[in-house]
Amino acid sequence: MCRECYAYEDRITPLLNPKDCLRDHTQYICGTCGRCICMEREPKRGLQRWNFPFTSLKHAKLYLRTADFTMKKSCGIYELKNTQGRVSYKIFPGTEELQVYLKKNQNKRCETMLPVFSEKEYREYPNTRIRRLEQAEIERYLQEKNALR
Ligand SMILES: [Zn+2]
Ligand SMILES: [Zn+2]
Repeated sequence: MCRECYAYEDRITPLLNPKDCLRDHTQYICGTCGRCICMEREPKRGLQRWNFPFTSLKHAKLYLRTADFTMKKSCGIYELKNTQGRVSYKIFPGTEELQVYLKKNQNKRCETMLPVFSEKEYREYPNTRIRRLEQAEIERYLQEKNALR
């Protein structure tokens, strides 16, 4: 696992429409493994990908580093269940934010109120970059990503 961005595969993200995401969105470029993680803020509420629910723990883990880096602390991935029993995963800076969310979303529950995953301590790494990629970097990254398949 990459100690900076917690991923096992260093070109797995972006998961959806990688070309568009790399071209149009600001990326967290892992200074350790080079993985790009979308950091783009949607203009209306300033939300990033990590603010939204994930269908699997694996995918939530791929975005956890952008949450930690944005909040400058170790955030947690929490397992939520809705009234139909459907499970999803969401990243919160801590239990306080989780509680606020649950109050507003009465159809969701978190059984343990504890994160299923979080890093022990927040660290920064010297080679991290937050920026858009240049065209040549996008092409190289996509080539490396496709070679993984
Ligand atoms: Zn993106
Ligand atoms: Zn990494």
